Amino acid sequence: VNVLHPLPWHAGIWATLCERALAGRLPHGLLLAGQEGIGKRHFASAFATWLLCERKPDGQQGACGECRSCAQWLAGSHPDTVLMTPETGKREIRIEQVRGLLERLSLTRHYGGHRVVRVQPAESLNINAANALLKTLEEPPEGTVFLLSSALPRSLPATVRSRVQHVRMAPPSPAQAIAWLEAQGVDQAEQRLAASAGNVMRAWAQRDEEDPALRDDYEGLLAVAARRDANPLESIARIGTTRDAVSAFLLWFASHCHRQLLAAKEGAVAERFELMLRELTKARRALDGNAHPQLLLESVMIAWHRMHHARLPAFVA
Ligand SMILES: [Zn+2]
Repeated sequence: VNVLHPLPWHAGIWATLCERALAGRLPHGLLLAGQEGIGKRHFASAFATWLLCERKPDGQQGACGECRSCAQWLAGSHPDTVLMTPETGKREIRIEQVRGLLERLSLTRHYGGHRVVRVQPAESLNINAANALLKTLEEPPEGTVFLLSSALPRSLPATVRSRVQHVRMAPPSPAQAIAWLEAQGVDQAEQRLAASAGNVMRAWAQRDEEDPALRDDYEGLLAVAARRDANPLESIARIGTTRDAVSAFLLWFASHCHRQLLAAKEGAVAERFELMLRELTKARRALDGNAHPQLLLESVMIAWHRMHHARLPAFVA
């Protein structure tokens, strides 16, 4: 994905906003509103880069990617840009973050051009933070542009909504989404889009989940763990015990079971994968509910091992 270019389904709104900016008529606050997973953050980031770019190519192109400003942006160290987002593990943007922002905005700009503040998701501004921001949102320092992104614009305080111009961000059509995923080199774009319920950015983010090398590795590991004399817990270190590693493995295992289920010619084999799928669904729910990743992985691997050797499924619970 080219981080400097708008996504194809946002080309129209991109061109409109660029035109306004070049004519000096860009509102100082924009609310990019549209459903989850259509690329609002991508848009905000690409548009911010373009606003700051010293060359500002017009039309459908993004920022030049080469000037001093672009180089700093791409290095993640542009001094005239602020990203406001909840801190790790938090749901809300706190008033202290807004105070920090206001302090930065009171300083002069490093470069002559714009200064861009992104707030995402905008609905995470808690009421105190929103109130602290109001005055600046209404009358920001010269050259400052606020880009708020939200999938839930109605849950923003009315005082915030009334101070920014709403920009409706359209979702891609399914055909556009599939064409774009394919252009990014994503295999099985249609299936992946369906698996992520039409959420194109999620489908893209999960494009590598079935990396073939990983698949061979996981398949080999399951074959070993299924042997009668194997200790199913021995494979755990290779899978990894962090939440992310366990989550990725459970996702892969579930899609593996689905594929095996479709291909199964024997009833007993199909039954085994069906039971395993049920175990995996439970495990994924438990992981979402904050269960201990390693213990969860252990119980999944033990269930897998037993399933091959117990006369009665020992894990029916
Ligand atoms: Zn540039």
